[in-house]
Amino acid sequence: MHHDVIVLGAGLAGLAAARDLAAGGADVLVVEARDRVGGRVEQTALPDGRIVQLGGEVVGRAHTAYLALAAELGLILVPSYVAEPGVIARATPEGLSAGDPPHWFAPGDDACHRRVTEAFDALARTVEPDDPWSHPEADALDSVSVGDWLRAEGASPGVVRLWEIGQLALASGSYERTSLLSALRKHAAVPGDPGAGASEHYDYDDWEGLRVAEGSATVALRMAAALDGRIRLGEPVRAVDVRPGGCAVLLANGETLRADAVVSALPVGPLRSVRVTGVSAERLASLHRQRQAVAAKFVAAYDKPFWRASGLSGLSECEGVLGSTWPQNEGVLSALVPPERYGALLGMPAGLREGELLGEVARLYGDEAHDPVRCWTRLWGTDPWTQGYVTHWTPGDVTAVGPLHGTHEPPFYVCGSDQWVAGYMEGAVRTGRAAAKEALRRG
Ligand SMILES: Cc1cc2nc3c(=O)[nH]c(=O)nc-3n(C[C@H](O)[C@H](O)[C@H](O)COP(=O)(O)OP(=O)(O)OC[C@H]3O[C@@H](n4cnc5c(N)ncnc54)[C@H](O)[C@@H]3O)c2cc1C
Repeated sequence: MHHDVIVLGAGLAGLAAARDLAAGGADVLVVEARDRVGGRVEQTALPDGRIVQLGGEVVGRAHTAYLALAAELGLILVPSYVAEPGVIARATPEGLSAGDPPHWFAPGDDACHRRVTEAFDALARTVEPDDPWSHPEADALDSVSVGDWLRAEGASPGVVRLWEIGQLALASGSYERTSLLSALRKHAAVPGDPGAGASEHYDYDDWEGLRVAEGSATVALRMAAALDGRIRLGEPVRAVDVRPGGCAVLLANGETLRADAVVSALPVGPLRSVRVTGVSAERLASLHRQRQAVAAKFVAAYDKPFWRASGLSGLSECEGVLGSTWPQNEGVLSALVPPERYGALLGMPAGLREGELLGEVARLYGDEAHDPVRCWTRLWGTDPWTQGYVTHWTPGDVTAVGPLHGTHEPPFYVCGSDQWVAGYMEGAVRTGRAAAKEALRRG
């Protein structure tokens, strides 16, 4: 059977692309390796009905593509954990603190933090997020890590530590291994309110202030329901041959599917395992140069949000195996294991993992943490169909990936959160819809 377009991958990007292609009159087929849709958004429910997110959860006010799609699907956005009462907790090997400043701050660190934040914000305003390569200092900015830049700016060890613990909390890869240009690009893509002064290098409100009330994976489920009959589950793609007269998609079961065009919505890791022919060597080199931060998500569901009694919001930044916690739903705590600690997590005997991670939660919030209703540990970093978590750019990566990033080579179109500046559900929806628009424009 010949299709107009075959979409590889039924994550948010692939589904958003297929939805728009179908709406534009194309005969589209989605092929997906797993036996479910959604990719890195996945949800389950507790017996009492509370929905639990095991993957992507929250979005920010500037995530316009995602917010527009959610509205089209009739979904409701509500404030996320950012609006929770109480203060942040921070845990390091030598101490704990609640609220600001963190317990390791020395006199002068607060002023130093404000100064380097302003310098970072000002530098980010010189970077064009869609074209960071045009910056006159692009190579130099890409060659240093955020950590090295902070020290060169005179940041104290306490301030560097605050930036780093925040980055571990996001599990996006240490600032000591992150290109300054990539961090500036990400910041420039979601600028703070211009009237409000310099915005934090990662403003939780700007990036994470909202969530879909029905559950973030419902975005994928609603799109998939409308694409009924056009999605084949449990069908890993092994090879793609791209020709202007017709493309061939080889499935692991030996079957070959044919189409006029192919939209790849695969994460960059799994894409490296797919043999792609008929596409320029430069494009493949650019795609294969991209990487992801590996991370795991741990979720502990409790009867109630007991941390509130201590004046804590449930948001924390930590230097344990866990890098952070936050409340995703009433009484349900999410936590991330950052790339720097992923090996330590894998090294824990499987039977001890839950108890040891709950021990870290108990250090933050007290002994009640040891008695959850249920826990989940989701090893996204070693999941064969994800091989990561979010986009990560080490020094030199922005230059090496180059301006082909996020572009197409018709009839081969590329989308997925890795093709936006910073990953995220916004990147998936934004690039998925853009790929569909471009494919429809070219007929
Ligand atoms: C734990 C976690 C927490 C996150 N938190 C947030 C958050 O709070 N906010 C936010 O905005 N983002 C968050 N993200 C990131 C966000 O979830 C992802 O960036 C986004 O969902 C990716 O969508 P995608 O469609 O690009 O890729 P994916 O969702 O990874 O979809 C790709 C699809 O391709 C399939 N596939 C892979 N290989 C093959 C193959 N060979 N053949 C066929 N199919 C294949 C996969 O099974 C998958 O379904 C989080 C991610 C994780 C893992």
